Amino acid sequence: MAKNKQIREPEGFATWTPSDGHLLDVRNLNVEFNTRDGKAKAINGASFHLDRGETLAILGESGSGKSVTAQTIMGILDSPPASVTGGEILFRGVDLLKLPEEQRRVVRGRKIAMIFQDALSALNPVFTVGWQIAEMFRVHRGCSKAEAKDMAIKLMERVNIPGAAARYGNFPHQFSGGMRQRIMIAMSIALDPEILIADEPTTALDVTVQAQIMELLKELQAETGTGLILITHDLGVVADVADRINVMYAGRIVEQAEAKELYASPAHPYSEGLLNSIPRLDQSTGQLVAIGGLPPNLTKIPEGCAFNPRCRYAQDVCRTGEVPPLVDLGGNRSSACHFVSELVAGTLQPNGLQVVTGIQPAVAEENGDQA
Ligand code: SF4
Repeated sequence: MAKNKQIREPEGFATWTPSDGHLLDVRNLNVEFNTRDGKAKAINGASFHLDRGETLAILGESGSGKSVTAQTIMGILDSPPASVTGGEILFRGVDLLKLPEEQRRVVRGRKIAMIFQDALSALNPVFTVGWQIAEMFRVHRGCSKAEAKDMAIKLMERVNIPGAAARYGNFPHQFSGGMRQRIMIAMSIALDPEILIADEPTTALDVTVQAQIMELLKELQAETGTGLILITHDLGVVADVADRINVMYAGRIVEQAEAKELYASPAHPYSEGLLNSIPRLDQSTGQLVAIGGLPPNLTKIPEGCAFNPRCRYAQDVCRTGEVPPLVDLGGNRSSACHFVSELVAGTLQPNGLQVVTGIQPAVAEENGDQA
């Protein structure tokens, strides 16, 4: 326990200032998994950044690589079977991938923290929630038991747990799903991290509780200036929260845009498909149209553009040509589609591919990956 306190922060953290670059700068990240069917390419050259106080949403279906991206930044991927085969993750100018494990442990939790999707699994069922929060202060800050308990109760109050002092001694199973997620948030912000990664933080919750949790995250971010990475498959969740959105497909970022721009006019057919499949209050949508087909098996990513088997605009060059690179469109926007100019101009014609209506089944299991 005391060991963490004695390990020094990586050289460069203390001297870094925002003028030196982005708080987090992920460059050309590549991650693979060894599977029985071969190498699954979970992340293929992802690059993005995050600054202080900003909210970046990473959006995509199951198997797109968004959760693997989060786990790679946190340094919690199981290796093997996973391996980072290329790229850099610069935090305060220091490449986290080059740090020894003991220094990554210093970063994890203290500098970059994560809120997991399933709070019931993430919390320890045999310890009270109060003890688990207080443990953060005892281990990382060297607080006495009494001090740590006081701080834990204050934090429970801050995340709006009613009767926090009385509930300090309750176990995780004695809380509702929404309250457990608040406990997870309390634990993640206990050490004032500079970056918070929320991996599908509201997926298991009903709609009204989802809104409360997102509101809480927004409030905490406004208070602390934390950079927030929001991992989600749900465009509805990020609509009011995100500053920028990265859309991922088959381990690649296929569109980067400011949130308002992406909602107003997507610059990639996959983003367009995601938007067409949700009800919109700001537009008359008529019948919802799901994206046909399934995300690819990551051990057999299609040649050319990985989205081509499902894309209603796909042409020969999409099937046999090069992987379309992410092209800068100006104004913080980029897209990886051979026909982005025509799409943005509204002149790109569908190719007659049958689109499938209705809800698609979950496909994570079929991909054999952890995304
Ligand atoms: Fe569709 Fe072709 Fe653009 Fe890929 S490159 S998104 S297949 S039009």
